[in-house]
Amino acid sequence: MLLWSVVAIPAHAGAPQVGAQAPGYYRMKLGKFEITALSDGTVNVPISKLLKHALHEHIASVQARNYQSTQPETSVNAFLVNTGQHLVLVDAGAGSLFGPGVGGKLPDNIRAAGYQPEQIDAVLLTHIHVDHSGGLAVDGKAIFPNAVVYVDRRDAEFWLNPANAARAASGQRHNFAQAEAVFAPYLKADKVRSFDDEHELFPGIRPLRMPGHTPGHTFYEISSEGQRLQLWGDTIHAQHLQFPEPGVAIDFDVDSTAAVKMRKRAMADAAAKGYWVGAAHISFPGIGHVRREGKGFAWVPAEYSMGR
Ligand SMILES: [Zn+2]
Repeated sequence: MLLWSVVAIPAHAGAPQVGAQAPGYYRMKLGKFEITALSDGTVNVPISKLLKHALHEHIASVQARNYQSTQPETSVNAFLVNTGQHLVLVDAGAGSLFGPGVGGKLPDNIRAAGYQPEQIDAVLLTHIHVDHSGGLAVDGKAIFPNAVVYVDRRDAEFWLNPANAARAASGQRHNFAQAEAVFAPYLKADKVRSFDDEHELFPGIRPLRMPGHTPGHTFYEISSEGQRLQLWGDTIHAQHLQFPEPGVAIDFDVDSTAAVKMRKRAMADAAAKGYWVGAAHISFPGIGHVRREGKGFAWVPAEYSMGR
């Protein structure tokens, strides 16, 4: 007969919890190009206060169905493209502009991914908002000292002109002073270029005009050997609501009607043609595909790949 007794099991390790996430980078190949999605961190966004054309109860119920609150932890993503000839970063994260501990992780994650911020030849901005351009400089010092910054002329003229600040909605006003501060070292070094059209900026990388969220909001289309990735900037802020209902808008839009039109057009095109999409505020790494579903669309996140 076997007698069981409760014996204290000695804890050999007793390891303290680590509490940190893995470095925020994710690699994929696109034809001959290497794409690295980079996390700048996350920020809690009170979407039930910021979304338009959706009732609070509806927002809460869709979020709950996806095991999310109405103030979800929202990714801030940037994308590094190594074409073999150029190292090009699309968007620069928030830098220190979200305050301590929120965002600003991009430089560390660039290094964790095997690159140095100094190696970057160009930073292409989808638009000039804190969480996309804030990481260009910290305390007046360029984070990408050897890079030329590219941005659509309409965004440069809008955000870098202090006269517009007085006319802007109160929620947008802080962006002007912040834009001026982070652009200063690049302007001083004559390293800012604006563009007007959709011509290639580098072989395999071209801007697409997608105004609405801001006057010069831009997608970047990356193409290599017949494979395509569109980097969408701020097309999505609440993925569980805006794919099924692209008419749902966010308060940060400078022109909400145009932004809704742009989102519908982008989703319809991506679903019809099946190319890769990368977005700043879809859960990291924010890379996947779009398909039609019901009257709207659905996000199909990338399946894990070793990136070869
Ligand atoms: Zn954004």
